[in-house]
Amino acid sequence: MNLQGKTALVTGSTSGIGLGIALKLAEAGANLVLNGFGDVDAALAAIRACGGQAIHHPADVSDPEQIAAMVAAAEQQFGGVDILVNNAGIQHVAPVEQFPVERWDAIIAINLSSAFHTTRLALPGMRQRGWGRIINLASVHGLVGSAQKAAYVAAKHGLVGLTKVVALETATTAITCNAICPGWVLTPLVQQQIDERARVDGDTQRARHDLLAEKQPSLDFVTPAQLGALVLFLCSEAGEQVRGAAWNMDGGWAAQ
Ligand code: NAD
Repeated sequence: MNLQGKTALVTGSTSGIGLGIALKLAEAGANLVLNGFGDVDAALAAIRACGGQAIHHPADVSDPEQIAAMVAAAEQQFGGVDILVNNAGIQHVAPVEQFPVERWDAIIAINLSSAFHTTRLALPGMRQRGWGRIINLASVHGLVGSAQKAAYVAAKHGLVGLTKVVALETATTAITCNAICPGWVLTPLVQQQIDERARVDGDTQRARHDLLAEKQPSLDFVTPAQLGALVLFLCSEAGEQVRGAAWNMDGGWAAQ
């Protein structure tokens, strides 16, 4: 797999799945535009250790103007975005009647609308250069529902829908658009849910086991590296005619 000369923009890539995907892309030779908050220096150092060039852009992807500045920075630094991975995401757990309206708005903006904005800005350059890959990190919650996750489930189903539309609009070109639908991956986002469960009796191990046992038949977490390998496949020649698909990598969750 040789992605030398290609530039990848991965939103929310300072930790978790986004960082795992960025590392795989950097190992394959791509230039990286990282985005997200937290330990930016550690993320940049990990990418540069793979030998790749990387910059970080601090755009808050809930703001279309900041997204436009990030895409412009990618064009200025590396000449454009060839691989766009829409990965940034947050969530909130509450029954629909008590779901805070501002959390609904933030989740829809970060998990769904951001992908619309990045895509419409990155696509013209991909069309001009005649090649592109758009990969949307949805979730198994983009395929099935889950109580208490109204905004997250709605945003992820929306992202799978947006994926199909973009795939159809680029179907006769060498640009593809696909979604990835992971089950549980042990990242800060999921650790937060384990910690909330463990607050009752302090038993983190049991909270972890229960979380998996309820939904994920493999009883094991998916890893960011496995998701990164799937992204590399979608970027490869073998992935050329994979269009508008929603790939679950979920330890069997959606098969139930
Ligand atoms: P994470 O919390 O580890 O990472 C989220 C990243 O998004 C971080 O880099 C964070 O800084 C960034 N981010 C958050 N808000 C942002 C904003 N407004 N602007 C820019 N960046 C922002 O989460 P994760 O578990 O790695 O999740 C990554 C994606 O995968 C999300 O879209 C999530 O919904 C999806 N996903 C995760 C799991 C899982 O089990 N962890 C399962 C299915 C889908």
